[in-house]
Amino acid sequence: MRPLSYTQISLYQSCPLCYKLQYIDGLKPRDKWYFSFGSTLHLCAQYFFKVRVPPPPSLEELLLFYERNWISEGYESAEEEAKYKTYGREMLSKFWGIHRADFRIPVAVERIFYIDIEGVKLRGYLDRVDKLDSGGLSIVDYKTNQELFTQDDLAKNLQLTLYQLAAEQTWHLPVERLTLYHLRSNTPCSCAARDETRLDEARHLVLEVAKNIADGKFPAIESQYCPCDFPEHCPYYRQKIAPLEEETDILRGMAVDEAVEHYVSLQGQIKELESQLEEIKQVIIDFCQAEGLNRVYGREHAITYRLVDKTGFSEGEVRALLEPEGLWHRVLSLDQSQLKQLITDEAVAKDIRHKLEALRQVISSSPRLWVRRLIEEE
Ligand code: SF4
Repeated sequence: MRPLSYTQISLYQSCPLCYKLQYIDGLKPRDKWYFSFGSTLHLCAQYFFKVRVPPPPSLEELLLFYERNWISEGYESAEEEAKYKTYGREMLSKFWGIHRADFRIPVAVERIFYIDIEGVKLRGYLDRVDKLDSGGLSIVDYKTNQELFTQDDLAKNLQLTLYQLAAEQTWHLPVERLTLYHLRSNTPCSCAARDETRLDEARHLVLEVAKNIADGKFPAIESQYCPCDFPEHCPYYRQKIAPLEEETDILRGMAVDEAVEHYVSLQGQIKELESQLEEIKQVIIDFCQAEGLNRVYGREHAITYRLVDKTGFSEGEVRALLEPEGLWHRVLSLDQSQLKQLITDEAVAKDIRHKLEALRQVISSSPRLWVRRLIEEE
C-alpha cells in the first residue's frame, strides 16, 4: 500500500468513495481558487523562513517572490483573481512585519516526512518546526481558512496530532506546542501537545482507515459539501447528472421521475389521512366518555370503545424474587440503546469503550427511502 497522507485520511473519513475516485481511480478534481491562494501563500512563508543565515528576505524580495510564484488556477474571473492578489499582498506585508521583528531560523521548513505506524506508512509536509527555549519543538501549520480557529478546533485537529507523531519520530524531541497559523489575520492559534492517549487514538484511526482501504470499503457518505467533483460516479447524484437509459417503465409504465413524484404524493396523502383519522378517533373517544358509552353505531358499522390496560413488571420486585432462585439471568438481554450510552460515557475506561466500539457490526440491512424537496433547495 502506498503511503497515506493526512489529506487522504481526512478525505476517506468524509467520503470513502470520493477518496477512491481521487486516489485509486486517479480522477482529477477541478482546480479551486482557494487551493491556489493557499499554495501561493505557503510558498511565500516557506521562502521567508528558508534562509541559511539571518536576515530573512526583505519585504520587496518577498513581494517579488509572491508575484513570480502566484498560482492562477481556479479563479472564476480576472477581477476575482486581482482582488485576492491584492488581499494576499496585504496579508504577506503584515506577515513580514511580524516575523521580521523576532526572526529565528526554524528547525525545519516545508520538511517532508515518512513515518511508520505498525506497518502503515504515513507521509506529509511539516510547514514549519521551531525549537522552543525549553528545548522542545513547536509545530506550525499555515492555514488560509476564513474563520479563526477555536480551542475546540485545535483540540479536534487530526493533522496536528499526526504531525506531532512525525516530529517526535524525526527529531526524538518532545513536541510542546501545536499551532494553526491563521494567515488571513496573521494569528497563531496554539495549544499544548497531545498526550499519549490522544496519540494512540490517532494511530488507531490511521490503522483503521488503512484497513478499510485494504479491504476495499468505499461507501459514498453524503455531507453538506456534496456534490463533489465526481457526481457522475456517485450513487447519490449519478441518476440526476446522467439519467439512466431505458429508464421508462420501471413501475407500471411510470418513468423514474414519475415514480418519485407519485411516491411523495402518496406519502403526503397518507399523512393527511392519518391526521384526519387521529382527529375523528378523538371525537369518538370524547363522545363515548361524555355519554358513558362503550359502543357507538353508524349505518353499517359499530365502533367499540374500551380502556385497555397495559401491564408490566417492576424491575426491583422481579429481581428480588428471581435472583435468590438463580433465575434473574434468564430475563436479562442485551439492551442496544444502553450499550450506545455506555460507549459514549467518559466515566467508562477508554480501552473498554474502544473495544466495545470495535465490536459494532451490521446486524441487518433493510431498504428505506428518504424524501427531499429539490425545488426549495435550489
Ligand atoms: S458527491 Fe458522492 S462521491 Fe462525492 S463526496 Fe458526496 S457522497 Fe461522496
